[in-house]
Amino acid sequence: MTVLNGARIVPTRNTFAGRLQCLRTFVSLCADKMSNNEHMPAPAAPSDFIRDIVAKHVAEKKYPQIHTRFPPEPNGYLHIGHAKSICLNFGIAREFGGICNLRMDDTNPTKEDVEYVDSITEDVNWLISGWADDKLGLKAKGKTPETIATNGDRDFYLPAVVGGAGGPLPASAGVADTGAHGVTRPNLEPFYASDYFDQIYDYAEQLIENNRAYVCDLTPDETDEYRRNAKESPYRNRSAEENLDLFQRMKAGEFPDGKRSLRAKIQVDSPNVWMRDPLLYRIRHAEHHHTGGKWCIYPMYDFAHCLSDYIEGITHSICTLEFEVHRPLYDWILESLGLPRPLPHQYEFARLSLGYTIMSKRKLMQLVNEKLVSGWDDPRMPTISGIRRRGVTATALRSFAYNIGITKYNGITDVAVLEHAIREDLNKRSLRRLAVLRPIKVVLTNYPEGKTEELDAVNNPENESAGKRKVPFSRELFIEQDDFKEMPPPKFFRLKPGGEVRLKYAYIIKCDEVVKDASGNIAELRCTADLDSKMGGATSTRKVKGTIHWVSAAHAIDAEVRLYDRLFTEAEPEKDGRDFKSVLNPHSLEVVTAKCEPSLKDAKPELRYQFERLAYFALDKDSAVGSSRRDDRADGSANRPYLIFNRTITLRDTWAKEAQKG
Ligand code: ATP
Ligand code: MG
Repeated sequence: MTVLNGARIVPTRNTFAGRLQCLRTFVSLCADKMSNNEHMPAPAAPSDFIRDIVAKHVAEKKYPQIHTRFPPEPNGYLHIGHAKSICLNFGIAREFGGICNLRMDDTNPTKEDVEYVDSITEDVNWLISGWADDKLGLKAKGKTPETIATNGDRDFYLPAVVGGAGGPLPASAGVADTGAHGVTRPNLEPFYASDYFDQIYDYAEQLIENNRAYVCDLTPDETDEYRRNAKESPYRNRSAEENLDLFQRMKAGEFPDGKRSLRAKIQVDSPNVWMRDPLLYRIRHAEHHHTGGKWCIYPMYDFAHCLSDYIEGITHSICTLEFEVHRPLYDWILESLGLPRPLPHQYEFARLSLGYTIMSKRKLMQLVNEKLVSGWDDPRMPTISGIRRRGVTATALRSFAYNIGITKYNGITDVAVLEHAIREDLNKRSLRRLAVLRPIKVVLTNYPEGKTEELDAVNNPENESAGKRKVPFSRELFIEQDDFKEMPPPKFFRLKPGGEVRLKYAYIIKCDEVVKDASGNIAELRCTADLDSKMGGATSTRKVKGTIHWVSAAHAIDAEVRLYDRLFTEAEPEKDGRDFKSVLNPHSLEVVTAKCEPSLKDAKPELRYQFERLAYFALDKDSAVGSSRRDDRADGSANRPYLIFNRTITLRDTWAKEAQKG
């Protein structure tokens, strides 16, 4: 069994013991894989029960073309759960020659915002860039459904423009997925459910005329109560004429909020509560971000969603499991209208829940509003924009979505699965660099003052074509505080008094003296270098147990390094009704000023870096070349780049080690 299949079983393990076992299996599979040092095979097209259904429909030629959609409600930023849905919907479009529409599900008049529409569009573009952007279905700007004749019947249809046919794509479109995003297609825009309000209203009138919907005067609370008790509304048997008149007056604004509603006439005592004459329209005197003050009645989600799917020609309407009980209503509405084109069908899969994470937009918004994070794109947030800013690539996110698979069982996916996908991706693409996060000074007493050597260092051992670079070496260096111990525990193979260690790409050094300041802190280490031990030297093959990283003090450049960790200390932040804010990790962000090798002054946002022996890093968007923010630097180096690196992920899973200890 491959690692991929091993990971796929994770979401189905619901007990704690099961998950732990599963994680162990997974970790050992990963370890096997790494020790074999084999490369990840290019993922075959995934298979799951939804893709099986689609494949069958393709074989049967059930539809001229497969058409899916991703329909977020623009009331917050997208999160990693949405990424799973995006990968599924666009993945299917990709594998079966189909189209996937991006639709803003904006039937709710309040709480929606243009900021969210923009961020959603940007996030989707980023995640599918170079992968499925040629399957993205958009529409011409401002376009609303056409009234057409299908088999002689009046029909509403809004076709998609696919893959940015609105104009040539900018050069950034199909390239790097690490930083470039926001492909703009100026003449196109996403679909908006609110563009269909006229048509949805028309469909409602058709239902009324066919005696399948009625205006009900019960209050919202009474309606709930009647439905719970399977009780028939006293307004259920109004005539079609009366219903039509009342519905038109609802639309005209004659009644206040909650005074009347439009309900489907299905079955008041259905065992499925959703079929007990559900609401189709309610009165809401509220402005809408897209339609302004035009409407004071708004369709309910269940009524609008299936009709939006139909209008766009969707074939497979894929959603999460909680909508399974709504499916009979989805079908009932479409079937009751006698629509002339093939009907879409709904399929449900288990939503993603991820350990150490919360996933609801409403709760993520609390973190933002209460300033517990720096914004929606705070690198600790599970939002797509936060994950991107942290340095995770779209490739890694898609590979994660692929690894977890699509099932019908709700469960918590171990965050180690995500972290594995991120490490695997970054290991392949990252440029290795030397940087010291918490410096301690080393003076090589036998190395000439003023001398500088340029030593060869490998850019990426995983990728020979990344080549080599020169790293300056001199008499005074910085090494990591952690790499020296005055009182070392047994098996401490780094630097200790009288001990030897190899400096990566350079010499073996020996610690002769520990110099302390007045308060007893280590000020510097005085060492001697074995000057023949460099590559090619007489003692270059001499074995010492440890190798550590370093930077030359005279050549080092400063960078602000933001060390991010998990946002929550508990795998299930909301377990047993606990307030998720009570288990925020107080150490989820630590900021240090690191000493970096000089080549990092040319760091690029689209590239990824491994600071050797430490972690993977990406340049933060707040980095600025020549930023005035460092004008206060005493050394007058204000025109040097002001670098900020985000730690994307550590090299190894430090949390798993902690868990084992515990
Ligand atoms: P939230 O509860 O986080 O606000 P939502 O379901 O209200 O999420 P929508 O904007 O309505 O979010 O979702 C858009 C699409 O993304 C829907 O098809 C939904 O099923 C899917 N989706 C949302 N959350 C997840 C998740 N955790 N896992 C998989 N798919 C998800
Ligand atoms: Mg929603």
